[in-house]
Amino acid sequence: MGYLTPRRLLVFYFMALFMSLIYVIYSFASWCPNSFKEMNMRFPNDGDVNELQIRDKMIYEKNELLKLLQSRFQKVETNLRRLYPEVASEILEKDSNPNDLPYIYAITPTYTRPVQKAELIRLSQTFLHVRNFHWIVVEDSDRKTKLVENLLEHSGLEFTHLNVKTPDAWKLAPKDPNWLKPRGVLQRNLGLTWIRENLKKGANKGVLYFADDDNTYDLQIFEEMRGTKKVSVWPVGLVGKLRYESPIVVNGKVTGWHTYWMPERDFALDMAGFAINIELLFDKPLVQFEYEVKRGYQETTLLRGFVTKEELEPLADNCRKVLVWHTRTEKADLRNEEKLKKYGKPPSDLTIEV
Ligand code: UDP
Ligand code: MN
Repeated sequence: MGYLTPRRLLVFYFMALFMSLIYVIYSFASWCPNSFKEMNMRFPNDGDVNELQIRDKMIYEKNELLKLLQSRFQKVETNLRRLYPEVASEILEKDSNPNDLPYIYAITPTYTRPVQKAELIRLSQTFLHVRNFHWIVVEDSDRKTKLVENLLEHSGLEFTHLNVKTPDAWKLAPKDPNWLKPRGVLQRNLGLTWIRENLKKGANKGVLYFADDDNTYDLQIFEEMRGTKKVSVWPVGLVGKLRYESPIVVNGKVTGWHTYWMPERDFALDMAGFAINIELLFDKPLVQFEYEVKRGYQETTLLRGFVTKEELEPLADNCRKVLVWHTRTEKADLRNEEKLKKYGKPPSDLTIEV
């Protein structure tokens, strides 16, 4: 019993106390789910608190936004499946991998006139709904105008702005019927040249479409044309003095053309009724529009250079759906501006852009 002196008991007591303290600290550290480094972040210095609160708020807000976008996407998906059951799956599948989605390069010739801004605004706000879309706008003018430049800058679209003037000899006079001379020839050709010089075969996958500034486009046509292998075709509404013009399709192949006017043409369709895979532009680098061709042969001249009728790919439910309309905007009647002046009243303010 002489071993258990009070001194030894005291030493033993302190040793036990020390060991239990070590045990408590150890079990607290392993109970904590984070490393010591992260623990430091949980117990920050005063100076860090503000920054942490800001970050917390940001994460919270991003999370809320994500939830909102998810629910919106869900709605879009539901609507898409309801409205376009035939193509919905294809679109949604592609949507998951936008890098694989071929681009649409739309070439739009345009010229200064009172309705121009209205046309371009309507067009640009349609195109905003189309993913992987590049708008090539070619002004029929010596210089790029501020109106078009500003409109494109603020459009939210990916675009290229070009210009080339139609020679006077090829310009329609105000009283000329519109079939007398082809319109947009040099402008579309400049668009073709831009694609050939700025894109690369293989690296840039996409299709080319000629989108005049006054037509009306259903968004579905863009998703359909995206898959064009060579040249795809479809009906165009309200053109050629008919309800619609259309390729005639038998067993999935184009056999002829529903048109009143020169159905013997190789490609008797409107500029708005076809799209071309841009690979063909590189394979046939010289094919373009020409002035010196028979009236009404612009489309035929171009397409002959790229494909045969047998190779055409009919879209829009085997050409049974109209998804593009050759609408034409009424010329603006501004005669009362002059009358106001005549009666000594101020005409409309020219510094207000219309
Ligand atoms: N266009 C043009 N310069 C002109 C006339 C027309 O650049 O002098 C453009 C016009 O903006 C449109 C395309 O060429 O994008 C076709 O012209 P339009 O719509 O007048 O032809 P149509 O409807 O008769 O085919
Ligand atoms: Mn037109």
